[in-house]
Amino acid sequence: MSISHLFFIGFLLLVAAIAILYNAARKKKSLGLPSGTIIYSDPGVLGKVEKPLYDAELGLTGKPDYVMERRGCLVPVELKSGWAPEKPYDSHILQLASYCLLLEQNYHKRPPYGLIKYKNRTFAIRYTDELRQSVFELVEEIRSQKEYGEPDRSHENPSRCERCGFRFDCDQRL
Ligand code: SF4
Repeated sequence: MSISHLFFIGFLLLVAAIAILYNAARKKKSLGLPSGTIIYSDPGVLGKVEKPLYDAELGLTGKPDYVMERRGCLVPVELKSGWAPEKPYDSHILQLASYCLLLEQNYHKRPPYGLIKYKNRTFAIRYTDELRQSVFELVEEIRSQKEYGEPDRSHENPSRCERCGFRFDCDQRL
């Protein structure tokens, strides 16, 4: 292969890399994400396929939409397609807190807070000791319910599931 061919291939690769970076930056901007480096993203948005976060001891698994690294801290970001309620539902807060716990277990770095980003507003939720404890309690409750067999869902109401604290680990959620 001649030098000019190699140069041409190198040039094409450079253009492709710039296009990928440009698209990712545009997407990030259109999502209104805060500044920081994305170190994890759910597949499909930035084209990066990641394994779900998993903690074997707790039997907990989860896929945050994004994890940003900001000034050495990990910050999970959960994107919600709907309009913001007056304050985030408990189920959304617990879901975010479960990601904080998973990040803590997987990366050995405790996130100070996480973000829930609705269509029109973003809430920063502090990952306090109390919130962390609530996730442990919920995981324990879910575990003991599974041991005794989960009861069948008794309704067809998606908004009830949307607000439910068990949502992030419920196989029957709507
Ligand atoms: S998420 Fe699961 S436990 Fe919660 S209301 Fe829906 S079906 Fe019931």
